[in-house]
Amino acid sequence: MIVNRPGKIFDDLYMVGHPAMPVYLLDCEKPVIFDAGLAFLGNLYTDGIREIIGGRDLHYCFLSHSHFDHCGAVSVLKQNFPGLKLVASEKAKNVFGRPNAIELMQNLTRAAEQLASHIGIELAEFERFEPFEVDLTLKDGESIKLSRGITVEVLETPGHTRDSLSYFIPRNKVLLCSEAAGIPDATGYVVSEALVNFDQYYESMMRLSKVEYDVLCLGHRQALLGQDAQNYFQKSMADCRQFLNLVESALKEYDGDCQKVITRVKAVEYDPVPEPKQIEPAYLLNLEAKVQVIKKRLQNRFGNIEFVN
Ligand SMILES: [Zn+2]
Repeated sequence: MIVNRPGKIFDDLYMVGHPAMPVYLLDCEKPVIFDAGLAFLGNLYTDGIREIIGGRDLHYCFLSHSHFDHCGAVSVLKQNFPGLKLVASEKAKNVFGRPNAIELMQNLTRAAEQLASHIGIELAEFERFEPFEVDLTLKDGESIKLSRGITVEVLETPGHTRDSLSYFIPRNKVLLCSEAAGIPDATGYVVSEALVNFDQYYESMMRLSKVEYDVLCLGHRQALLGQDAQNYFQKSMADCRQFLNLVESALKEYDGDCQKVITRVKAVEYDPVPEPKQIEPAYLLNLEAKVQVIKKRLQNRFGNIEFVN
């Protein structure tokens, strides 16, 4: 089963906000959320959370990584839920402390206004991305105990970013992996998201595939249960290998010319896919990073490869 709209996913686990940029809520004695989406969806997340937990406070926000569309509404949520403590990796904490990273996230948030109209969000007042402090850093293998025997365990799953964390809740076997294992498009093809290191990204997927989970929450668009959840990693790894082959063969054909490779890959992977899909500027920005990562990998693995471009 695929859950692709806000509401209950399973037990006390909910998707709130908008499926394109979801926040996941675990409604236990001390409610917690996973990720904080886009800045200008802050009030939408707040309303969705309030509908479920009423006047109670949030206790933790577990951030998956330092991208503007996963931590954007932190400052709004902190205002609306004063007890909220931010959890992230040490690496992500360092990124959030860098003025140039904050400026980039502010610029990307402004650029994402286009997405807002695309997904039917009225921008009465544009919410800026505001800097914030991480309250608690966690490493691989560490965990946080919540109420009633509920624990959140941390898995470092780099590759999409260097600071990517996934979270596992053993009590109801929920795995929240954000973008560490790609994002399915409308056809079911899983778009690879290896932005900084292809091999680490693939290894992270292998590791996640071995977790005994029942429910899988992705960073965009959907949460999966049952057979869909069980089949996911096999598909995401196969599609990732297919993407690698496509990029490698295009790099060889175009002698390392990344712009030509991007045009080819986009024509295969993006143009024919129906909406809803990632907006084109964001797709192209990510694709450029992914192509560069694979180009470097080819050059490192086969020192004798010298591209003209
Ligand atoms: Zn990301």
